Amino acid sequence: MSKLIDGKKFADSLCNKIAEEVIKLETKNITPGLAVIRVGEDPASTVYINMKAKKTKEVGMHSVTKILDENTSQEDLLKVIEELNNDKSINGILVQLPLPKQINADSVINTINPDKDVDGFHAINTGRLWTNIDSLVPCTPLGCKMLLLDELKNLTGKKAIIVGRSNIVGKPMASLLIAENCTVTIAHSKTANLEDEVKKSDIVIAAVGVPEMIKGSWIKPGATVIDVGINRIEKDGKKKLVGDVEFSEAEKSAGAITPVPGGVGPMTIACLLHNTLIATCTKNNLEIPKFF
Ligand code: NAP
Repeated sequence: MSKLIDGKKFADSLCNKIAEEVIKLETKNITPGLAVIRVGEDPASTVYINMKAKKTKEVGMHSVTKILDENTSQEDLLKVIEELNNDKSINGILVQLPLPKQINADSVINTINPDKDVDGFHAINTGRLWTNIDSLVPCTPLGCKMLLLDELKNLTGKKAIIVGRSNIVGKPMASLLIAENCTVTIAHSKTANLEDEVKKSDIVIAAVGVPEMIKGSWIKPGATVIDVGINRIEKDGKKKLVGDVEFSEAEKSAGAITPVPGGVGPMTIACLLHNTLIATCTKNNLEIPKFF
C-alpha cells in the first residue's frame, strides 16, 4: 500500500508559519489584507469564499469580502477591482470563478494589479512564471509542487504527466515541474493512448474534473500521484467527494498518493495566504520568507 500524502497536515503547518510571519509584520505596523470578490450566488463559490475569509482571519490577516449581484455588469465589477487596486490596506485581490455569462473573465483577471494578483492568473504573472522571473504563482499548482517536494525532496530527472491543460492548473503546473528539472508531458482530452502515457510516469498530476477517470492499473509501481480533482458524486445513495484518480486501486501501486478530500484542496487556500504574504512583503520591500 502507498503512503498517504496528508495535504491537510501540510497546509495547517504552512498556515502556522504564515501566522508567525504576520505577527512579525505587525511589529512594523503592517497587516496583510486580502479581498475576495464573489459575483452571484453559486453555492460552491459561497462555501469556498467563506472558507477563504475564515482562514485569512485565522492567520491574522485583514479580510474583505465583496458580494455583488448576479446581474452586475462587467463595468461595475471592474470599478470595484480598480478601487481595491488603489486601496493601500489590500495586498491581494481574488475574483472567485466562475463568473456570470455577461462578464469576460480574462478582462477581469487582467484588470487586477499584477502585484495584487494572488491567484497568479494575470497574463503578466503567467509570462513571468514561464520565463523564470519571480511571480505570484497559481495557488493549486503551487500547493502540488510543495507536496511533491516534501515527499520526493528532489524532482530532477523524474518523468511527470499532467492530465489537464487549463490555465489555472495544468499549464502552470507544467511550468513549475519543468523548473524542477522534470521531463513533462501535458495530456488532455485529445491525447492518444493516455493509459500508456500515464504508465510511463514517475509523477502523475490529475486535473481533469472527471470522477476516477485515471485508473489504478495505469499507475506505475512506486509513482507519486497528486489528485487535484474535486468531483461530487452519488454512490450507494450517498453523496461523496472523489478525485480524478481511482483511489482504491491506485493506492495499491502508487508509492505515495493524495486523498480526496484532504489532499490538494487544503493546500490551495494555504497557498493563497502564502501569496498574500509574498505580495505584502514585496510591496514593503521586505525579505520574502521561504517556506519550502
Ligand atoms: P478544466 O478547466 O475543466 O480543465 C480540464 C482539463 O481536463 C482540460 O484540459 C481537458 O482537456 C482535460 N480533460 C477532460 N476530459 C479528459 C479526458 N477524458 N482525458 C484527458 N483529459 C481530459 O478544469 P480545471 O479547472 O483545471 O480543474 C480540474 C479539476 O481540478 C476539477 O475537478 C476541479 O474541480 C479541480 N480543482 C481543484 C482545485 C483544488 O483546490 N483542489 C483547484 C482547481 C481545480 P481539453 O483541454 O482537451 O478540453
